[in-house]
Amino acid sequence: MPKIKCVCECIISLSEIPSPNQYLIISDIEMDNYVGKVDIEQLYMEMKIVVKCPNCGRLHIFNEGFDKAPIIYRIDN
Ligand SMILES: [Zn+2]
Repeated sequence: MPKIKCVCECIISLSEIPSPNQYLIISDIEMDNYVGKVDIEQLYMEMKIVVKCPNCGRLHIFNEGFDKAPIIYRIDN
């Protein structure tokens, strides 16, 4: 996915690899599967993608990949 549109109307580019707007997260339980053996491609596939809007700071968490709508978190204060 080359770009997404934030609620604040900012177009967030994801075309740069690696992207300054994209973060990867993995649960502690899933991470435990990689103790002592790290295959970066496999690890990447296990991670959830988080896109941070550079304009408003909202986090878009794609728990089920880019095909499903993300959960969007806004800064509270
Ligand atoms: Zn935004």
